[in-house]
Amino acid sequence: MLWPLMNEFGLIDKYFARPERRSRTAGVALGVGDDCALLAPAPGMQLAVSSDMLVEGRHFLSTVDPARLGHKALAVNLSDLAACGAKPLGFTLALALPAIDEPWLAGFSRGLFALADAHGCELVGGDTTRGPLNICITVFGEVPAGTALLRSGARAGDDIWASGTLGDARIALEVFRGALTLPAEAFTLARARMEQPTPRVALGQALRGIASAAVDVSDGLVGDLGHILAASGVGATLDADAATQLIAICADGACAAGLFDVEARRSFALSGGDDYELAFTAPASARVAVEQAARHSVTPVARIGRIEAEPGLRVVDAGGEPLAQRFGGFDHFA
Ligand code: ADP
Ligand code: MG
Repeated sequence: MLWPLMNEFGLIDKYFARPERRSRTAGVALGVGDDCALLAPAPGMQLAVSSDMLVEGRHFLSTVDPARLGHKALAVNLSDLAACGAKPLGFTLALALPAIDEPWLAGFSRGLFALADAHGCELVGGDTTRGPLNICITVFGEVPAGTALLRSGARAGDDIWASGTLGDARIALEVFRGALTLPAEAFTLARARMEQPTPRVALGQALRGIASAAVDVSDGLVGDLGHILAASGVGATLDADAATQLIAICADGACAAGLFDVEARRSFALSGGDDYELAFTAPASARVAVEQAARHSVTPVARIGRIEAEPGLRVVDAGGEPLAQRFGGFDHFA
């Protein structure tokens, strides 16, 4: 607790200003230090903007490693840009801190900037205040006008795809809650998925002109896919077993060893949340193009269902039999 030795502006200068990098990013005309940042998207580009807030105790545990928290705070925002097919330009950081804790700030900024630099996304401004730990990031990206991926473009007959892995973040949360135990190796993997999600930024951009609709999976596959169905005015059949195969810790046999039953597994994969993968749709005629986009972006994708004209979501097993099990999405106020 070093408030007397370092004030708000000293803190910003030391941990967030990075004058050596200022405005080296194409698309950022002016970064941290003035009353506004100035962004300059290239001609013909639209600005893509999204905010996500992380509140201690609700979105992260107070014990989380600050570097991992810095990573995650930006990752969940980059995931929104990915879902729109936008290329990251910059971000703002609004931070409420209970006290100036320098080791915490050093770790947080290290994790934050490691991911920012990996995506060429510059911190261009923000706000810093004393208060209960709360992190709000707004990201700015650019996308060629008219090509952003939206939730509203899914059509009957389209395939439903998911990127990467599903369910592991929720499995790790259940371990932290004491409701589950895992072998050490599986827990390390699941915990990394929970604390350091991988925003699928390259895949999102590669899917422009190919995917008919996209969303990022933050509140659980079923809930977020539901947003595509509602916005597109369609229904779907979802293959629960295809989605369940995307649980990363199951790839090494941990699930087969009987750690949790098939219903639990389906529930983690379909309504676990905190995955930060992309769920997207594309016409069946675009399967090869989707697979190429996945290869180019070095991101695995899997086909997990089909869009239909009939409204509603039908969850079936691998044999096409409807499941009685219910799958909800996460809602902070439900
Ligand atoms: P103002 O009073 O004009 O809102 P501030 O005094 O809050 O400006 O901030 C001074 C400068 O530092 C601004 O350029 C602002 O964008 C930047 N800034 C403040 N907090 C942060 C932060 N957490 N990360 C990055 N930049 C920040
Ligand atoms: Mg301010």
